Amino acid sequence: MSNCIFCKIIKGEIPCFKIYEDANVLAFLDIKPVNPGHVLVIPKEHYENFLHIDSRHLQPLVATVQKVGKALVQAMGCEGFNLGLNNGVVAGQVVPHVHFHIMPRRAGDGYDLWHGREYEAGQAQEVADKIREAL
Ligand code: AMP
Ligand code: ZN
Repeated sequence: MSNCIFCKIIKGEIPCFKIYEDANVLAFLDIKPVNPGHVLVIPKEHYENFLHIDSRHLQPLVATVQKVGKALVQAMGCEGFNLGLNNGVVAGQVVPHVHFHIMPRRAGDGYDLWHGREYEAGQAQEVADKIREAL
């Protein structure tokens, strides 16, 4: 897509710190890292979000996330990482070209994610039924 910033990175029109590239996938450093080594993994084909990805392109994308994750742990000596995918504006997606975030984590790095809330009585069953029916 001509006005997509990540498509421009794929085409080499905007520079990036490239980590990995093959026929289907590109991985590069996020310009504003949560921690050093924060990598974005994107399909070379433009898909706006996770629900649009063709299954042919999903498998190599996820396999690359794992490959880069392994390299991150080794290279950065991080103790773990968070995977993120902001799907839709309401979820914080800013760039409308689907991308996985791999965010290296270290003990005491100050991030405190995902404060869960309790279900109300009967609500979990209702929600589980609804989702299952949609599958
Ligand atoms: P999201 O909020 O999930 O859409 O995340 C978009 C991410 O893209 C942010 O973490 C940005 O820091 C990152 N980003 C935006 N422009 C660039 C760029 N030119 N090179 C590398 N990362 C970028
Ligand atoms: Zn794009």
